[in-house]
Amino acid sequence: MSSPYVFSGNPLDRAANRRGDEQWLASLERDESSRFLPLWRLNVLIKKGDPPTLGWARGNIRASMDADVGAILLGLDDGVAHFAVDLSHLPDAEAALGLSGAAEFEDVRTALVRCPGEPWGIVAQARSLVDWHSTHRFCAKCGAKTASESGGGLRRCPACDAEHFPRVNPVVIMLVTRGERCLLGRQQGWPRGMFSALAGFVEAGETVEEAVRREVFEESGVKVGAVRYHSSQPWPFPSSLMIGCMAEAQSEDIVMDDREMEDVRWFERGHVLATLDGNSFAGAEPGRLLLPSSLALAYYLIEAWAR
Ligand SMILES: [Zn+2]
Repeated sequence: MSSPYVFSGNPLDRAANRRGDEQWLASLERDESSRFLPLWRLNVLIKKGDPPTLGWARGNIRASMDADVGAILLGLDDGVAHFAVDLSHLPDAEAALGLSGAAEFEDVRTALVRCPGEPWGIVAQARSLVDWHSTHRFCAKCGAKTASESGGGLRRCPACDAEHFPRVNPVVIMLVTRGERCLLGRQQGWPRGMFSALAGFVEAGETVEEAVRREVFEESGVKVGAVRYHSSQPWPFPSSLMIGCMAEAQSEDIVMDDREMEDVRWFERGHVLATLDGNSFAGAEPGRLLLPSSLALAYYLIEAWAR
């Protein structure tokens, strides 16, 4: 079943069993049909147009890429190789590429609202991998400079032979409910009236269910019993996997952690439903509830419960 979530549904075959073949990789990089997605400081290239589109480039862009990272093979679609290239070392990548206003690097969250039909799962993969390569240039074991291998599928240390693999960081996001009410919180700096499901990183030596119970208790003081998995969403800021859960509260009193949260409250189902029906990006009136947009998994957790 296909998922409605942005950043899901990446159509590429990641070609795991062929990545070790350096000759094959080199031939793909030279292939004139191959496509290269340029990123600059984690912003993605967008071509102007109606609608705007992802700024796929051809192989000549490799002359401008960061050689320490190299071309990162994302995968193949119908035999056509798709790569990501990092141009962050260039002070002004748009000028260096001679784009002269035809395309520009945009923040991913801004761009996906402007061109929702593009395969954002590919962009998620590209953004997470480019970020990982840029922050793993040196070996965590011995400090020597590492080199990209397997089309960017790993970095190897030439000094101690350690292999370093791209990481995904699991985050639990959970809608805590009790009867006709659900628990929502807000953090400092969010738009006025915005509340969302509680969330937090899974820690070492912890199951998903344990992480849900710990995070909810830390942020709200509410005790959680049964936890049920709902769905998941890649979240490339920079490299998280959001694991959406429904959680049943066993207590109601809120003891908020005000270092993490600005407010945590119970909301009635009717209030949430009315808000979903009139939810807008424009921001809430004073005293009005604003829920996350449908870009976020939290929206679907809240909607699944409320409807
Ligand atoms: Zn090393």
